Amino acid sequence: MRIVLASSEAVPFAKTGGLADVVSALAKALGELGHQVWVIIPHYPQQLPRNLSPAIEPANISFPVPIGTRAADARILWSTLPGSEVTVLHVDQPAYFNRPSLYNEGGRDFPDNCERFCFFSRAVVETCRRMVLRPDVIHANDWQTALIPALLKAEHRKTTGLSNTGAVLTIHNLAFQGRFWHWDMHLTGLDWKYFNWRQMEAYGQLNLMKTGIVFSDMVTTVSPTYAREIQTPEGGCGLNGVLTAHRDSLVGILNGVDPDDWNPATDPHLARNYDAATVAEGKPACKAWLQNHLGLPARADVPMFGLISRMADQKGLDILGQCLDEVLQQDVQMAFLGTGERHYEEMLVAKQRDYPQKVATRIGFNEGLAHQIEAGIDAFLMPSRYEPCGLNQMYSLIYGSVPVVRTVGGLADSVVDTTPETLANRTATGFRFDDYSSEALKRTIFRTLEAYRNRATWTQLMRTGMAQDCSWGRSAKEYVRVYEQAQAKSAARPADG
Ligand code: ADP
Repeated sequence: MRIVLASSEAVPFAKTGGLADVVSALAKALGELGHQVWVIIPHYPQQLPRNLSPAIEPANISFPVPIGTRAADARILWSTLPGSEVTVLHVDQPAYFNRPSLYNEGGRDFPDNCERFCFFSRAVVETCRRMVLRPDVIHANDWQTALIPALLKAEHRKTTGLSNTGAVLTIHNLAFQGRFWHWDMHLTGLDWKYFNWRQMEAYGQLNLMKTGIVFSDMVTTVSPTYAREIQTPEGGCGLNGVLTAHRDSLVGILNGVDPDDWNPATDPHLARNYDAATVAEGKPACKAWLQNHLGLPARADVPMFGLISRMADQKGLDILGQCLDEVLQQDVQMAFLGTGERHYEEMLVAKQRDYPQKVATRIGFNEGLAHQIEAGIDAFLMPSRYEPCGLNQMYSLIYGSVPVVRTVGGLADSVVDTTPETLANRTATGFRFDDYSSEALKRTIFRTLEAYRNRATWTQLMRTGMAQDCSWGRSAKEYVRVYEQAQAKSAARPADG
């Protein structure tokens, strides 16, 4: 198939969260299955890693994109995803994208976010047309590109030359919907007739995520459990009605892990590489290195927990904060890495001050340290309030670090709780709790500590985790089935659908 993946971020070019990992890994996996894939992202010069290879080159294509009452130029640059043949097209428009961060500054969204991403979405469609990519499907991701399905399916359908192209939208996190005041409607280039409660409007605002859900041929989200949760009032973030109405086109596909980035046998960040056969020597070496690096006592016998996270309400840091003092009365160590809301950062920094022999907190985004923590710790904490898929629990499984998670979203789909039955049938991979409460989290941490003291149980948990298939190959095949369905639906769709 000919597949265009449109996204506001993709590793290694720009990343704020899991979306960037998913887009690049999926693109590579689709390429390996023999499909022709293009990734289209905005060009953020200030986000690029140093020594990027291969370099980004001009493609000698530029064109005006109408936006409101004027037009802004889109200049196309191109490169390939490192380690693959996948072409990446970068849409350059410095006024929109040459900024120090992707979406916000000082905790405030950029005031022109609607304009920036309407521009980008319209540029994606125009790039497909001008470069004659003739995609069978355009796969949009999250609100930033959720206008694309509407551009393909609404009034422009006859003029884009993409009338048979299927439109797929993936919801990576429904909490971020791209909600803007109604006067931004003119930035979309679509007629005001679409601004109604069935299509682009929600609660009086322009809602780009809703727009994408309504106009796409198929909608996916990043785990089967999250696909069910978002159809409920508790998990639907106000769009549960729309999602329920479109449930026949809604599919949950669990993300995979990119083995080029996350594999303890080859990871260049680690003091010692290891696999399932050598984990008994490799992991203690990584643990000792991590303890030294973080300034914690280098002890092999102390259970060490890790947490790597955006510091946001979603991630369960409030319930963690409420039980930490009690947990820290035990003989444990904890490594925290993250950045985000100031009060969570301060809470974890304060714990390091209060327990300097037990807690190491690092504020900031540090890719290398994230790998070193995953390899060096014994157990990984992910007490999320909600979690569409989650990647770190899967990295933990692969690195032989036992995940401790709340039973929500993708965490429920990827971690099997430890019980006498799951130990006996050798499916147990971690520890889960249901209630969103510090009490339930604390009990589960204590359960984890008890299991840690039983070496046979712990070794079994590590080995079962490391044997899980978290590969993208499996998920990519499911996406291809969705693309085929989208294409078939597109062919059957009425002209102004
Ligand atoms: P989300 O997308 O909600 O932030 P995910 O678990 O899906 O959560 O993905 C988060 C990704 O970002 C993972 O690859 C994780 O390792 C990484 N990450 C988060 N915070 C940091 C940080 N402070 N330093 C390095 N990597 C981080």
